Amino acid sequence: AMAMRTSVIGGNWKMNPTSLEEAISLANAVSKEYDGSKGEAVIFPPFPFLGPVKETIDGSSIHLGAQSIFFEDKGAYTGAVAASMVKSMGCTHVLAGHSERRSIFKDDDMAINRKVLKILEAGMIPVLCIGETKEEYDAKLVESVCAIQLAKDLAGVTAEQMKTIVIAYEPVWAIGTGLVCPADVAQSTHAYIRKKLGDMYSPEVAEEVRIQYGGSVTPDSVDELMSMPDIDGCLVGGASLLADSFVRILNYE
Ligand code: PGA
Repeated sequence: AMAMRTSVIGGNWKMNPTSLEEAISLANAVSKEYDGSKGEAVIFPPFPFLGPVKETIDGSSIHLGAQSIFFEDKGAYTGAVAASMVKSMGCTHVLAGHSERRSIFKDDDMAINRKVLKILEAGMIPVLCIGETKEEYDAKLVESVCAIQLAKDLAGVTAEQMKTIVIAYEPVWAIGTGLVCPADVAQSTHAYIRKKLGDMYSPEVAEEVRIQYGGSVTPDSVDELMSMPDIDGCLVGGASLLADSFVRILNYE
């Protein structure tokens, strides 16, 4: 992490925990124990918990994020949630392109691009997740996969907007597997992503963009990851469900 960029660490709760009571208790513990001194902290609870979690974290240094949105503004889209809705619930950040959305819910790059644009239009920070599968990793396609996802998912995003976007580099083979990507390997991919953003926009814009690493981050791996110059934060799944672990990650050394 470089001092010129404010670090940003997210807790992606995914479809957890399974009751409102547990969600409030987790949000409460995290917001009481983290003082905001290390950087931006965001939790991404499931949609039904956004309101109560917002009340729980109000006045603390924890930001609220949504795990997804649909790209239409309103209307006959049963089960869908609009960007303006989560914005009005107090969300400041929204995930787009998470690998589980890509694989399970069939979000393609065109849909992800429309979502990114809607999140920006609503005045929130998109956290755009990219990354290669195990097969692509074995075939040495890491850089080309990331380049294609960046080009497609960021189509139509202006340079001013780009400065606000957070990129989460998440190798799919590292998500939920306990196989964290070695810090030096992640660093080289982050450096590549920043270089690519430099080509797409300008080196000045690329220097401002925060790039998170995601995939099996724990209190044991966070410090080394965060010591890398192009790793500006982490997106944490499993370890964000335990308040002690997540607070330790937020207070990385
Ligand atoms: P994990 O999930 O930390 O459980 O690997 C990361 C993510 O999916 O963002």
